[in-house]
Amino acid sequence: MNKHVTIGAGDWTAAAEALLEDTIALRRAIHREPELGLHTPKTVAKVEAALAGLPFAFKRGRSTTGLVAILRGAKPGPTVLLRGDMDALPMPEDTDLPFKSTIPNTMHACGHDTHTAMLASAARLLAAKRDDLAGTVLFMFQPGEEGHFGARYMIEEGMLDDPAPDAAFALHIMPNAPAGMFSAKAGPMMASADHLHIAVRGRGGHASMPHDTIDPIPIAAEIVIALQTFVTRQINAHDPVVVTIARIDAGTTHNVVPEAAYMLGTVRAVSESARSKIHRGIRQVAENIARAHGATADVEIEPGFPVTVNDADAVAHAEAAVAGLFGADAWHRMAAPIMGAEDFSYVLHRAKGAMIFLGVCPEGEDFRAACPCHSNKMVLNEAMMARGVAVHCALAERFLREGFARP
Ligand SMILES: [Zn+2]
Ligand SMILES: [Zn+2]
Repeated sequence: MNKHVTIGAGDWTAAAEALLEDTIALRRAIHREPELGLHTPKTVAKVEAALAGLPFAFKRGRSTTGLVAILRGAKPGPTVLLRGDMDALPMPEDTDLPFKSTIPNTMHACGHDTHTAMLASAARLLAAKRDDLAGTVLFMFQPGEEGHFGARYMIEEGMLDDPAPDAAFALHIMPNAPAGMFSAKAGPMMASADHLHIAVRGRGGHASMPHDTIDPIPIAAEIVIALQTFVTRQINAHDPVVVTIARIDAGTTHNVVPEAAYMLGTVRAVSESARSKIHRGIRQVAENIARAHGATADVEIEPGFPVTVNDADAVAHAEAAVAGLFGADAWHRMAAPIMGAEDFSYVLHRAKGAMIFLGVCPEGEDFRAACPCHSNKMVLNEAMMARGVAVHCALAERFLREGFARP
């Protein structure tokens, strides 16, 4: 690995292409050895090895393996943050890749291996340009994005203080989007994601004499349907909400009415007002349907990641950076948010910024049919990582040079 790279003025595309082999090698090493949750020590060690000997200061997390590499430019100026997440998913990998996961039931199916590798390569390239930088770049390597609140813990521990970022960007790959295409939108970009638990409690008894019981199963079924009706009749179609009951547990055998039925689901929204309205609605629907049948429903809504809201100036900045490197055709303005969630939302509460998607559809495949993130068969076009590296560099360099100057 040739650590010390030299770059011509602003030629991020050529520099990122020259580093592509290293970026791919790091991505494959991480892919082979995926780690879950808030503790990703082997992944962090790989990042540290890639950055060793370069002029970074490091902040390490206490409650997580989060790592912030700090690059101070030769001249003073603002601070920009670039994020890469490091954790994998608890699921089997069913690809034929020669570097497929060696850890049972653990797979980098959300591309966080590519995010980490792209960020490490961007850090190396920006370090080589340190003498030209006026300001500071924070490289945020975070564990625990997949529902574990890694970003929130890093913020709570003060890892993004002193210097605090004035701007923040993250890239997320999309195998089911055209290769090399960047996309984002101003405003809500991704949804909030809350966990829903409903326990319907009735009275158990003999399945042949339901009139002597309070059967929780039809009550649960009624609640499932009524929630969908509530969404379509009570929520503005232009401010979308998704409620999915993903699991129902009740009963043990064919001739017993159980005492209780338990439901588990997810609640998504793209505005805080719709989010609180659907929370109230779920309680109202579940509790009152249960009451109508003489049962009770306990509703618990565990708040998850908030809505990811992109700053309009940051999106314009990203569009200009992408167009400057790859032409206007490489940028797609999204018409609507997606209902997935991101804990980069917490970072965007601290600094103006944007989450940006990078299409990585495998070569020769129709992107509409490609396996998406979280698929056990997800594969991607690794060459597109060079684009991600170049855009990371351009986003940071441009921000330090001119702030969110509009094109
Ligand atoms: Zn994911
Ligand atoms: Zn992800």
